[in-house]
Amino acid sequence: MADDQYKARMQRKKEHIDQRIEEASIDKGIIVLLTGNGKGKSSSALGMICRALGYGMKIGVAKFLKGVQETGEDAFLDTQPNIQTVFMKTGFTWDTQDKAYDTAMAAETWQNAQSYLEDESIDLVVLDELTYMISYKYLDEQQILDALNKRPQDQHVVITGRTASEGLINIADTVSEVKDIKHAFRANIKAQKGVDL
Ligand code: ATP
Ligand code: MG
Repeated sequence: MADDQYKARMQRKKEHIDQRIEEASIDKGIIVLLTGNGKGKSSSALGMICRALGYGMKIGVAKFLKGVQETGEDAFLDTQPNIQTVFMKTGFTWDTQDKAYDTAMAAETWQNAQSYLEDESIDLVVLDELTYMISYKYLDEQQILDALNKRPQDQHVVITGRTASEGLINIADTVSEVKDIKHAFRANIKAQKGVDL
């Protein structure tokens, strides 16, 4: 492409982008939903935690379903004074195989999550693996949607987990589906520290 053509094209692109930036004038708390079968949902949520920490924001994290599995970030989050964390104290459902127990643990964790969603001082709430609580019917979807709707106006929420319900997709402002193209585990490679846990 000739230099002048390139310049004209970039100029048009810049005008378009500048206009879109100007139009985006609304400032509010948003819900980000990260779903799909590929790797990268919870680690993306952690990336946003990192960004928020950089601004001195206050964060509430509720980890559903996998509280038993220790990860590198749990140790890190523990050192951060601006972060409160609650873990659902049960393993994978296929380990416990006890629906009543899992439901009770989910409800207990949700109580904490809900208190974050009512707390004006918390800027970012991360509900990690929440989608399963709805798909396994451990928690009532409407109760979750109501709490999300009633949260403080400027509070951001990040929700992760596979097979997000229609209700969550509808209420979210940003929805990304991480597609599974390939995963090392299927080549018999163990979960690796710093990458997978
Ligand atoms: P991560 O925490 O690495 O961002 P994730 O939140 O997208 O992953 P989860 O379903 O919560 O995915 O699973 C967490 C763990 O399972 C991680 O160790 C991750 O590498 C692994 N994992 C994620 N997707 C797959 C997959 N498609 N096949 C095998 N293992 C996976
Ligand atoms: Mg995850």
